[in-house]
Amino acid sequence: RAARRAALGTTVFTELTELAQHTGAINLGQGFPDSDGPRTMIDQARKALASGANQYPPLGGAPELRQAIARQRARRYGARYDPDDEIVVTTGATEAVAAAVMAFCDPGDEVVGFDPSYDAYQAAADLAGVAYRRVSLRRTADHFAFAPDELCRAVSPRTRMLLLNTPHNPTGKVFTHSELADIAEVCRSHNLIAVVDEVYEYLTYDGAEHLPLASLPGMRERTISVSSAGKTFSLTGWKVGWACGSAPLVGALRSVKQYLTFAGAAPLQSAVAIGLDHEEEWVEGLRGRLRRQRDLLAEGLAEAGLGVLRAEGGYFLQADTAGSDPAEAERYCRELPLSRGVVAIPTAVFAQDTAEYRHLARFAFCKDPDLLRRAARAIASPS
Ligand code: PMP
Ligand code: GLN
Repeated sequence: RAARRAALGTTVFTELTELAQHTGAINLGQGFPDSDGPRTMIDQARKALASGANQYPPLGGAPELRQAIARQRARRYGARYDPDDEIVVTTGATEAVAAAVMAFCDPGDEVVGFDPSYDAYQAAADLAGVAYRRVSLRRTADHFAFAPDELCRAVSPRTRMLLLNTPHNPTGKVFTHSELADIAEVCRSHNLIAVVDEVYEYLTYDGAEHLPLASLPGMRERTISVSSAGKTFSLTGWKVGWACGSAPLVGALRSVKQYLTFAGAAPLQSAVAIGLDHEEEWVEGLRGRLRRQRDLLAEGLAEAGLGVLRAEGGYFLQADTAGSDPAEAERYCRELPLSRGVVAIPTAVFAQDTAEYRHLARFAFCKDPDLLRRAARAIASPS
């Protein structure tokens, strides 16, 4: 079998979700919500299926969806994208990121990103024969930060692209304006294309706000902003994503995408178009629920003796297992399903510098409050 494929193994999400199913443990490992998205969108998808929207949509995505994406970016960020040639609909954010790596990098080229990283980035780079250079998000007292000079040093003459995820999985970090300014400076001075995975763009808490890198000076023409309906609407199984950027960048993405999937599911695209035009009230409600769920889980884990780090955005929080037995998060997470009936993920599986994160475990809080309470109680109970 091809070495390239052999190196991929099985994703940690498949492994741990299977473990949760076998052991009957509560799955705070894989990040997916356990409640449905907006009723109106689900009804619209059903209607679209029944009324014959069942053939290929255009390569770039259903025009009404591209128009709705353009309206949303204008409304939310004051950013103008032409739905005809500056927006492409993809099969989830995952396809957009993979297509970008293939579109802008040749084998032997390099992509710079952050450590830890969502696992699909390393895999996309490996499949394309591209090196993924990571800059550590180092632990501060209760959060994470990178050193701008480390970022500069990670760039080489072979670097073509910078890959950023904010709000960040798995740390819960929302990159600040000044951090984004440092990142933008590196992109401009080394002539890099920036690909920003913004799937959690609206899921921010406690006054943290997502700021698109594309809105910084000189960045619009070199940035591809990637998002998806999965997180915004709690519809992760729909796999409707998109990328916005200048016409030459989006054109390059489209030319790769035409041979990856050509197009995604037509009836879901029309439902997402309707959802986007009416998302604000839904998103506000979702954000409030997620914040309360985060607090509930954080309090429970703190009572159980774990140190909980600040999570400003997304689905996940980081807990410090250093004071627990076992103290190593890898062993802690391996024992947790059997000893306490809960699945969490050791943060080091997302990292190259595994030592930096060896006492951290990622817990998903995008789950029913009762389930989170039960999980926290189980973790706190004496063994
Ligand atoms: N990017 C990040 C940072 C994620 O956490 C996830 C997982 N939910 C994805 C991308 C995948 O998005 P999609 O399902 O739209 O491909
Ligand atoms: N993004 C989700 C997570 O980080 C799950 C993605 C997946 O199952 N591939 O948990």
